[in-house]
Amino acid sequence: MDPLHKERPMNELPVMNESEGIVLFHPHIPETAIEEVTKVLQSRWIGQGPRVAQFEKEFSQRFGGNGTSIAVGSGTDALHLSYILAGLQEGDEVITPVFTCTATSIPFLYMGVKIRFADIDPETLNINVQHVRDMINEKTKAIVCVHYGGLPCDMDELHAIAKEYNIPVIEDAAHALGATYKGKNIGEISQFTMFSFQAIKHITTGDGGMVIVQDQSLTQKAERIRWFGIDRSNKQKGVWENDITEVGYKYQMTDISAAMGLASLREFHHSLSHRQSLFEEYKKGLKGAAGIKLIGAEANDRTHAAWLCTALVEKNRINFMHYLREKKIESGQVHYRNDRYSILGGRRDDLPNMDAVEENYIVLPLHMKMNKENVQYICDVIKQGWS
Ligand SMILES: *Cc1c(COP(=O)(O)O)cnc(C)c1O
Repeated sequence: MDPLHKERPMNELPVMNESEGIVLFHPHIPETAIEEVTKVLQSRWIGQGPRVAQFEKEFSQRFGGNGTSIAVGSGTDALHLSYILAGLQEGDEVITPVFTCTATSIPFLYMGVKIRFADIDPETLNINVQHVRDMINEKTKAIVCVHYGGLPCDMDELHAIAKEYNIPVIEDAAHALGATYKGKNIGEISQFTMFSFQAIKHITTGDGGMVIVQDQSLTQKAERIRWFGIDRSNKQKGVWENDITEVGYKYQMTDISAAMGLASLREFHHSLSHRQSLFEEYKKGLKGAAGIKLIGAEANDRTHAAWLCTALVEKNRINFMHYLREKKIESGQVHYRNDRYSILGGRRDDLPNMDAVEENYIVLPLHMKMNKENVQYICDVIKQGWS
């Protein structure tokens, strides 16, 4: 067998039931979302209608600076749309992080864009700025970054490189709703920022996504591409000389989803601070613990959106997971290096930092059904040690 594809033992732990203990994830759906969805279901608009427009407006006001929000059916749709709006074409090259959800990478395969994976920063698991600098060349047409777990990447450094090459930075902020970098919201920094409302993200609409576009001149194009390439407002006015000149998709959000999104956005300050307080509790609880180190716990110029609580365990990750499971705590890897997948070209040998941690990172439970006592319990269990 190809030595780069060596078999690794799986943890062989099935997904845990809620009744069995502290699960890794739980969707968060405020009561008000249920009321708002009911209203939509009783109305005449259930597809893309006024609630989508309202959700976009309030989302921009909260996160977008001067940008415009475009709501779509998933985070993956939002990434694909961003890549199209960034002007990427078949044969172009992009630099994108190796450690992320497959959603970041797969839309490039739709487009025939060549992926070049950048290594991670060992302290944060975010994209490694020095590696980006080493890899970039004239063929690179965009830099993609992912704020892993909710901790913003080194945006100033990435923008400095992008500026030299006159290319856009596209932020996959699926983990980072509500995070800030040097006093700015994630959402107002780069030309394109994408968010996900998939079931277990900060805000969920079942499935859904958003792109914030800073360049207003791209708004209409974005709206067309999300709807077959048709200018929908003209069509609704009955203007039939409404040619389609670019290939679009059926990527719009529905009013049912937007009603969930609006309700969750309006109480987001509460859910964000709850998540952040749980993350703080982990920091306190694991301070000085032997054999384990939290990721993204130290940052002065940026705030963590506390989507994931990830740690590096020095040894025996599989034993660690089984030990936690005995104590009724679920844990998992969640994301895998994307070069493990054949369709993404198979395993690379130029990613030493990724190689160094791939057997050591672990994600601990963090969600809205948890309280501080749950986190203290988890930390106490960890501090008792595993072998
Ligand atoms: C969740 C997620 C996405 C988007 O996924 P969808 O399921 O399509 O909403 C994109 N990137 C990352 C890093 C994610 O975690």
